[in-house]
Amino acid sequence: MRLKEVLEGKVRLKVPDVEKPEEGEVFYNPVMSYDRNISVGVLKLLKNVLNKPEDKLTVLDALSATGVRALRYKKEVGVNSWANDVNPKSVDLIKENAALNKIKIKVTREDANIILRKNKFDYVDIDPFGSPVPFLDSTAKSFLREGFLSITATDTAPLCGTYPKVSLRRYGIESFKSDYYNELGIRILISEVIKTFAKYEKVFIPQLSYSRRHYFRVYGKVETGVKKVNNFLEKFGFVSHCFNCGWRDLGLKETCPMCGAKTKFTNVYLGDIQNKSFLKDLLIVLDEMGFEKEKKLIEIIKNEASVPFYFDTHYIAEKTGKAIRKIDDFIKKLKENGFSATKTHFCPTAVKTDAKFSDVVEIF
Ligand SMILES: [Zn+2]
Repeated sequence: MRLKEVLEGKVRLKVPDVEKPEEGEVFYNPVMSYDRNISVGVLKLLKNVLNKPEDKLTVLDALSATGVRALRYKKEVGVNSWANDVNPKSVDLIKENAALNKIKIKVTREDANIILRKNKFDYVDIDPFGSPVPFLDSTAKSFLREGFLSITATDTAPLCGTYPKVSLRRYGIESFKSDYYNELGIRILISEVIKTFAKYEKVFIPQLSYSRRHYFRVYGKVETGVKKVNNFLEKFGFVSHCFNCGWRDLGLKETCPMCGAKTKFTNVYLGDIQNKSFLKDLLIVLDEMGFEKEKKLIEIIKNEASVPFYFDTHYIAEKTGKAIRKIDDFIKKLKENGFSATKTHFCPTAVKTDAKFSDVVEIF
């Protein structure tokens, strides 16, 4: 394997010397350093969230590839990192990279599910190719009582409604392709995590959820307790959507109240997917580390109205036959009419608002 040396965060790394990340025998994508920077910020908050000093926190990078996450977590945060990968070339490279940085981390070559079943962790990072679903049950078992979990999903096409039946098989929830598909997709992912953890009397409490490029990333706190679990399962509910006129609302409606057409509906987690006070703390940490681009994303998310889903103004224009409006003007108009309204990181032309569809159309 031909290698080249790169610098990411505070670690030096040997990575495959290839044009495209997927060509490497061990996967490394420099573009994802953005997400890893955010992860480093999140890990810096863990000592407060979990009430444990860094050197007492055990962190698993379950699908570690080059070891980049585990090494950065050790060097930049000071936690006890454990890097695991089933690929022997990967394991050799992780060890080489640890030596290169003079860092001691635990390295294993094992199926991630086995590592998760056999050990307990404070923080688990599941960053797979495709869907994280094959690891969720074992991950739920890998926390003693409390912990923190971050998950990446790159299978956004099923989650966002391009393949509704794949979503139904994989996540137990049928997706549909609406104008708010990114948020519906991330909520289907979160729903599956919550339902899987519920089986083990654990609850996954989302702290930060975002969609970027072609993947979703979700961070959440893990707690134990039947009451907490039941409370979270009550936050599930229906969203119904009319593909004829564009009407949508929370709740189950089989026919559209605006035009009478048959609707599509699905049952997902409708509770908070962001924890604003967590994001406030994260912004401080990202600022201290000088991660300006990452801060911008978190800033937008922190300011988003806390209501499920959003209206894409392009979609509303298409459905109503009206001209496209400037997003800032539209937000201003909604606010003048007494509604909350903000932009959303999920879609640059969309607005998050507590206004109902009929109000949105009228104001539009
Ligand atoms: Zn309709």
